[in-house]
Amino acid sequence: MSFDDLNLIYPLQRALKEEGYTTPTPIQKQSIPHLLGGRDMIGIAQTGTGKTASFILPILHNMSAAHRNTRKKYPRVLVLAPTRELAAQIGDSFSSYGRYTRYKHTVIFGGVGQGPQVKAISKGVDSLVATPGRLLDLVDQGHVNLSEVEYFVLDEADRMLDMGFVNDVYKVVEMLPQKRQSLFFSATMSPDVSKLARKMLTNPVTVEVTPQATTVERIDQFVFFVDSENKNELILQLLRSKHLECVLIFTRTKHRANKVAQMLNKNRIPADAIHGNKSQTHRTKALQDFRSGKLRVLVATDIAARGIDVEDISHVINYDLPNIPESYVHRIGRTARAGADGTAFSFCAADERDFLREIEKLIRMEVEIAEHEYHSEKAKNATGDNAKPAPRQYGRPRGSGSKRGQGRGKNGDNKGGRKSGGNNRNKDKNAGNNASPKKSSPKSSPNGDGNKKPKRNMKAKSIQSHNSRSKNASTRQQSSSQGKNKGGSPASRFGNKT
Ligand code: AMP
Repeated sequence: MSFDDLNLIYPLQRALKEEGYTTPTPIQKQSIPHLLGGRDMIGIAQTGTGKTASFILPILHNMSAAHRNTRKKYPRVLVLAPTRELAAQIGDSFSSYGRYTRYKHTVIFGGVGQGPQVKAISKGVDSLVATPGRLLDLVDQGHVNLSEVEYFVLDEADRMLDMGFVNDVYKVVEMLPQKRQSLFFSATMSPDVSKLARKMLTNPVTVEVTPQATTVERIDQFVFFVDSENKNELILQLLRSKHLECVLIFTRTKHRANKVAQMLNKNRIPADAIHGNKSQTHRTKALQDFRSGKLRVLVATDIAARGIDVEDISHVINYDLPNIPESYVHRIGRTARAGADGTAFSFCAADERDFLREIEKLIRMEVEIAEHEYHSEKAKNATGDNAKPAPRQYGRPRGSGSKRGQGRGKNGDNKGGRKSGGNNRNKDKNAGNNASPKKSSPKSSPNGDGNKKPKRNMKAKSIQSHNSRSKNASTRQQSSSQGKNKGGSPASRFGNKT
């Protein structure tokens, strides 16, 4: 099937040609015909599958078939996204795919002044892409009215729930007219997500592509059992290996993201951190520098990294394992964009051992164990209380890690913001940045090693041998003493106090 077979209106076909798209991706093939026919839909798909075009194209097509003049304050299309990063990317996609249509769109999200957003809406927009908090604020203030929405898209519904937006989403759905076409996208379908889908859809068709396991299977994954205090040294060793050329590192807290970026810069590895405390300008610049190759490493928290659309990320490194197993899938998915393969390394200290067990249950496979000189048997074999973060004491993390005491559904970025369901969530303030422009400098293959993808265990071995070569004498002395200290010394120079 080609895009021509879908008989989309000419302005859309023209834009697709300019984008260089000839063949629809699987989600596009499966969903666009149903959506052109006006059906409601559940799309089980992650970012990277081409799902944005799968809803924008039929919506713009159908809008043109039933033309209506643009009305101030009354959008015809509402797309709800959990983060401003994702909202901005969807806005970019409206600009790309809709560039030859007459329709106008704008993006609204929190964490920035509302003035320009209100101005854009007051001029009249056909499509509105929004994060829930800011949307409700602007509705409350009378700047937006949702009573004439004809097409409603809820994107990344699972993430929306994880971030505590459920009440806001229900509020928004209540404001929509009964007669509308609704599309619901989620990477996972938990009972809560299904309940939300049932509430907002009528007789939906379900389309499922690249189920989690398929995406996960495409990625070479390794776990490095390591004591917390050796993580910095281990990451430096990995980064000294040249084939790790475009690396996204995840940490669970903003503070740790800063620390890791600083540590890398001190060691002459160009890195920057993005998270909810960084200004929009900073995040935009960091992402652009990462895309262009000026930064070799970007360190991000889960929410800040949500929706990062950078092709050619060669490696994702989980400096900390996420406490939400689904986040692992989202994180490592950053390295397998648009069908590419990728590599993910995860550091696992003793108190993260149970997180790894949960992840392996979710992905239904065991993550291969990497050989390296900081290997910690203590981390590998941890069970019971030793395999979990210690309970938080008096609101301050104890010991060497800040991962302690973060319950499921919470996130290192989640401080402040609107209250929802009794929890303080950061909502729109979390995350992201404006995603344009696209990465400009081409990089080599995701593995960057001459297009050859070593077998898993070979790769693990090559890590080890490279590490031994690249260590200088003082580091070697120190690390070997740390290596012997299997219990992990809190006094270590490399302790990660947060
Ligand atoms: P998404 O899942 O919507 O975030 O899309 C992932 C990436 O795939 C984006 O960079 C899109 O520009 C790209 N893309 C979407 N549809 C196609 C297509 N049919 N052919 C090639 N690339 C596409």
